[in-house]
Amino acid sequence: MHYLDANATEPLRPEARAAIAAALDVTGNPSSVHGAGRAARRIMEDAREALAERFGGRPADLVFTSGGTEADALAIHALGAGRRIVIGATEHDAVRAAAPGAAIVPVDRAGVADLDALAALLADGPPAMVCLMLANNETGTLQPVAEAAALCRRHGARLHVDAVQAAGRIVVDLAALGADSLAISSHKLGGPAGAGALLLASDFSSISPLIAGGGQERGRRGGTPPVAVIAGFAAAALASGGAEALQQWRDEAEWVAVACGAVVCGAGASRLPNTTCVALPGVRADAQVIALDMAGIAVSAGAACSSGKVATSHVLAAMGLGPLAGQAIRVSLPWNAGPDDVGAFAAAYEHMVARLRNLSCCAGEVKARTDEGEGDQVGTQHENAMGRPDHAHPRRCPPRPLPLRGRGS
Ligand code: PLP
Repeated sequence: MHYLDANATEPLRPEARAAIAAALDVTGNPSSVHGAGRAARRIMEDAREALAERFGGRPADLVFTSGGTEADALAIHALGAGRRIVIGATEHDAVRAAAPGAAIVPVDRAGVADLDALAALLADGPPAMVCLMLANNETGTLQPVAEAAALCRRHGARLHVDAVQAAGRIVVDLAALGADSLAISSHKLGGPAGAGALLLASDFSSISPLIAGGGQERGRRGGTPPVAVIAGFAAAALASGGAEALQQWRDEAEWVAVACGAVVCGAGASRLPNTTCVALPGVRADAQVIALDMAGIAVSAGAACSSGKVATSHVLAAMGLGPLAGQAIRVSLPWNAGPDDVGAFAAAYEHMVARLRNLSCCAGEVKARTDEGEGDQVGTQHENAMGRPDHAHPRRCPPRPLPLRGRGS
């Protein structure tokens, strides 16, 4: 199996596995005052320090949660209390569900938030709390968060940044972004599932909890923390980085899809180096996912937060992609991906498109669109990025996998 669904969850990093194994040998509740409790507490506080430093905050301002969803919900609960909530149109459901009735900041066709629209929303009405993600989970599109933070400051608004997909893949620094809070998640950066964090700017050190419980996390999040999971979270965060190296493999995968007639969703925007979202005109996303799965390639259709859920993506719909919103798959390379994975994807994708061309149910549409070069929508820019001239870009699927450049191929 070639696992190309890192934005759903990353493979566990060996550093995280080792840290978890070591921490599992420590018995103790970090709230206990005896030596065993203090040993567990030491592990947690070391993890807190490492994570705060890695993401540009102070250890005292980092609240451990169960994951990214809870960190987003806690931010909206605490920073948004009594305020108007404003969110980007492409936010994750973790934010959308915690902010029903929020005002929406529209995005352009590449998925980038319209800052003029944000400014207009902030100018119009009482103080707001804004949620803007750093990187989108479906397209990888990066948002102009620092600029949004400056706007928020000017209008007395608070800014929460969902950095769940960005953390570990690009530089994420709360202070440098000028935001008021940041959500991160362990399993999205190569740690185990079950932990996340809300990193707060110092002004918000004391926040009211969503879960009060026994007053853990300085009264900001009740419940006995999973010490071993948290140890793995911090070890993974420290080991993460260097995702830029994945970009060449991501570009190769994207090039193959475009050559087969696909459209890159989010082209033209700055994007995460590991992510591409490619729509194949006329072919349902779930059919593509199944075809690739049968060839041993794991990718997803839009956001895959609940198993079996295949709904048209609100992200791609907000980008104005019309029917393509139901025809796009996400390929997201994990930290340990390499040329073999991308070569296998290329072969499977080409085979899938060649088969579809021959099937009566959809051959007409796929053939017509790919022959027309529908994928060309983003072609020129993509080819420049790949260093290939326009005339070298085939309109049809290449007959066999592209030779992959670089490492071991
Ligand atoms: N925010 C974004 C952008 C995500 O992609 C996800 C998960 O896919 C979440 C939040 C939720 O994170 P978790 O799975 O840790 O609850």
